[in-house]
Amino acid sequence: MSAASTDDQHNLIPPQPQPEELYPAPIKTVEAGSPAERAGVRPGDFLLRVNGAPVTDVLAYRHALSQGKATLEMARPAAAPKVMTGVPGTAQDHHRLFMPQEPGLGETFSFDVEWEDPGLDFEEVLFDGIKKCANKCDFCYVHQMPRGFRKSLYIMDDDYRLSFLYGSFVTLTNLTEGDINRILDENLSPLYVSVHTANQELRQDLMRWWKLKVKDPQAVQIRGMIERLESIDLYTQIVLVPGRNDREHLDDTVEYLSSRPNVLSAAVVPIGLTSHRTNLPDVRTFSREDAQDSLKRLNIWRKKFLNERGTRFIFPSDELYLLAGEPLPSEEEYEGFPMLENGVGMIRDFLTGGLDSELPAALPEPRRVILATGALFAESLDLAVEPLRAIEGLTLEVRAVENKTFGKVTTVAGLLTGRCFRHAIKPGEADLLLVPPTTLRYGTELMLDDTSLTELRKEFKMDVQPGGATLGELARVILNSATSSGHQWGMSAHAVKDSGKGDSVQIQVAEQGMRGQA
Ligand code: SF4
Repeated sequence: MSAASTDDQHNLIPPQPQPEELYPAPIKTVEAGSPAERAGVRPGDFLLRVNGAPVTDVLAYRHALSQGKATLEMARPAAAPKVMTGVPGTAQDHHRLFMPQEPGLGETFSFDVEWEDPGLDFEEVLFDGIKKCANKCDFCYVHQMPRGFRKSLYIMDDDYRLSFLYGSFVTLTNLTEGDINRILDENLSPLYVSVHTANQELRQDLMRWWKLKVKDPQAVQIRGMIERLESIDLYTQIVLVPGRNDREHLDDTVEYLSSRPNVLSAAVVPIGLTSHRTNLPDVRTFSREDAQDSLKRLNIWRKKFLNERGTRFIFPSDELYLLAGEPLPSEEEYEGFPMLENGVGMIRDFLTGGLDSELPAALPEPRRVILATGALFAESLDLAVEPLRAIEGLTLEVRAVENKTFGKVTTVAGLLTGRCFRHAIKPGEADLLLVPPTTLRYGTELMLDDTSLTELRKEFKMDVQPGGATLGELARVILNSATSSGHQWGMSAHAVKDSGKGDSVQIQVAEQGMRGQA
């Protein structure tokens, strides 16, 4: 027998069957009167497949339904389902329960729909877990976080699905060919992309992606990716690192981005540093002179774009104006606040909802109020609330709270924690303390270090509330002591894109939307 025929025989061995990978998606609620309810689906059941195929996330689920006829295969756990870890998107625990080769699959059943919403609401939007980032950026907040926060805040997610669903920024460096095709096929538009620079070498130097974690070398070519995604609208951002991607590099990046028809805008944000940078490259803070230089360049571009295309295209963050000591743009210049959660226009949005024209002359009872905020915004807030100080009986103090968790260098409001307020406030020194709503996790009373407002009320022996979404709302909370929870703990209508944001994106929201008391 020749060597060739031995190889042929080896090639004839049929491939071994692989166990099917399932991503059982736990059902949170079932809509009354829906097809799912009529089929007997209950909260706690799991979706296994649609039209015979496993489903990875709600987008794939909706896409499958959009084809018309669909058969949904469900499972009811034989035993009580395992307790979830509480980390959105990490479905491994319940995933294990349902591997087909395992006994105890529980009852399975199916039902059909045709051009109908089945009426299912899921516990999580990602059934197969969050896609992690492949980078080690010099400015990463996760690397600069002190220990001891809840686990989910350390997740370095970089998931294009969350970008489409919630507007979180992604780098695209971890995409596979399959992901790119899916984005194009399912038209997952718009996406929010952290570009930082259009210079490939410089981008690699700033983001230092891990070779082994990059699944497709094409994905790290930022210009190539933007061009390949030409049918997808992109909101982009540039995090400025002084002496690296600012100055003439910034001009080059703006010029390139503005040349791509699918790039709708670019937000420009200065690097945020904390005191926890052990084993990270030395990066200096963004100085006033750095900020002034960047704004000068960007203003030239903004003027040019406004004249040529009717949009300013470039949107510097509030922090850049505050650092430069320059006045904030008018409301109109934010063009509808599309980048509010990236710290672009939050302060203007807050100030625009101004004070009522008729303020009371006096309060029925004296009230001492402290407005706590980060050092960066304290002066502006102090000026904004000045008219309230004429009200008899109201003692109003704006207090710049030092960040005891991330360090003095962190001056934005959104990264203040319970620990910072404990250092800054003495029990009983006021009747009401207002904390920045951006310090709270969406829809909860919890801060980054899990301190709750209820705990602070007890410790401080005073009422503690989130501040208002706007200056007017803040004033109403001060005067009436009403809660400001109309929009997700004080986020303004502009800021609330989707109340479904979970823990996994809180740090991104905190670091990007961290400007201001409101
Ligand atoms: S900043 Fe974002 S992309 Fe960069 S290392 Fe951190 S999590 Fe990854």
